Amino acid sequence: MKDYFPVDKLKTLETPFYYYDMDLLRKTLETVVSESKKYDYHIHYAIKANANPRILSAIRESGLGADCVSGGEIQAALNAGFSPTKIVFAGVGKADWEINLGLDKDIFCFNVESVAELEIINELAQQKGKKARIALRINPEVNANTHHHITTGMKENKFGINLDQIDSVLDKLETLNSVQLIGLHFHIGSQLTDLHPFQALCTRVNELQQNLAKRKIIVEHINFGGGLGIDYQYPNQNPIPDFKEYFRIFHKHFKPFPNQQIHFEPGRSIVGQCGNLISKVLYVKIGSVKKFAILDAGFTELIRPALYDAYHQIENITSEEPKETYDVVGPICESSDTFAKQIDLNKTRRGDIFVLRSAGAYGEIMASQYNCRKLPKAYFSDLL
Ligand SMILES: *Cc1c(COP(=O)(O)O)cnc(C)c1O
Repeated sequence: MKDYFPVDKLKTLETPFYYYDMDLLRKTLETVVSESKKYDYHIHYAIKANANPRILSAIRESGLGADCVSGGEIQAALNAGFSPTKIVFAGVGKADWEINLGLDKDIFCFNVESVAELEIINELAQQKGKKARIALRINPEVNANTHHHITTGMKENKFGINLDQIDSVLDKLETLNSVQLIGLHFHIGSQLTDLHPFQALCTRVNELQQNLAKRKIIVEHINFGGGLGIDYQYPNQNPIPDFKEYFRIFHKHFKPFPNQQIHFEPGRSIVGQCGNLISKVLYVKIGSVKKFAILDAGFTELIRPALYDAYHQIENITSEEPKETYDVVGPICESSDTFAKQIDLNKTRRGDIFVLRSAGAYGEIMASQYNCRKLPKAYFSDLL
């Protein structure tokens, strides 16, 4: 897909940098909006996937809300113009200032992960004479079959309240006057490409709701979190995830009580495919057993391969020469700074431009300054 990239223009910019296809982002947003509208689902974009201000503006313009996991993300959402009435706030370790920020801005809902946290939210809300809207984040004990670093819905994970603890949490809630239970929240993991775990989640939530109804607890909001995966192998063939099928599964398998509002928090599936990391080849090193293409980007710009063994499609967009086999590595002083091993690429020379595809989610936002490097810039297809 060399013609997909404005190669002549990209060649003039200082590497490494992120390049966002805003057209694809808008098409993805149109799809998620139209598919979710069919069932009146509410969508809160998970800011942690990518908080670039221009990306956030485009997402906010499409009408989505925001899912935040820190005070900084709440601030980023507000700066981008998201309405506090569409902001939800999750996270196992909310600091007091972050809770206070949420209370001061009257955000829609705190997704609460423990009794300890519940007590503090209650106390801080009481000090302000407010009542905090909360949802309990329940650990549904559904195995998401994804990478162990990104599964979150099992009993031994640090996230959420386990099923066998719900009754005691509800007992506690009855003693607290400055919190109001409005919902239940679930998030089973990330990069799910097999959708069966979402069906299992629906079944689990149906059972749970039956049990809660026995205690006369019927909440107004059910939030199924995020987790829909993207196709890292074939970004050109599948640029937009199958939101239609994803929402259809929930519509088919989840049995809401009358007037229950249903929410989702997609992150990766919204921004993953529109982002690309652009890097220049510094050296081609001929080792005794391998050839290395050494890039000017490393895990400081894109940490997913080092952190999760993640695959990103890599292309040399400036060479037409026959393919050869390379390890593609970065300049950082760690062996894990490797993007790919033994892949076939058009014959590569110093100065060639490489693209790492599908890097819009958990890419730029995870960049670091390790080795005293500069944070990467971002460029946008509609501003080049
Ligand atoms: C990370 C996260 C999301 C988004 O996950 P994706 O896999 O990027 O869709 C949604 N909700 C919560 C609570 C999260 O922690």
